[in-house]
Amino acid sequence: MNPLKSGPSSASRGRQMSEQRFNGKTRRFFTSLVLPVDPSRTGECTRCGACCKFVVVCPFLRYADGDPNSARCAAYPVRPLQCRKYPRTKDEQIHQPCGYRFEDGGE
Ligand code: SF4
Repeated sequence: MNPLKSGPSSASRGRQMSEQRFNGKTRRFFTSLVLPVDPSRTGECTRCGACCKFVVVCPFLRYADGDPNSARCAAYPVRPLQCRKYPRTKDEQIHQPCGYRFEDGGE
């Protein structure tokens, strides 16, 4: 097999995925500072904790008795806007399954 014709290497794909994740997290941080949550959002958090482990595991993430669906934030009253508003829009909803949905497809 010719490596020049086989497309991007797995290292290249991994680097590309890391960049996409970093860009998604950066975008989420800035948009949450000024933009509201899409009003079409319905549902509720199922406490899976996936959004608390995006790129890095949040040091405030806790689980009750190792139950994977019991995620809670140890800094909940003062959590940052990017956590408070997640998922702000369908476009920024990276984790699936998530308990939130967007009725009209979001922004
Ligand atoms: S990914 Fe969705 S359901 Fe899971 S903890 Fe985050 S907001 Fe809640």
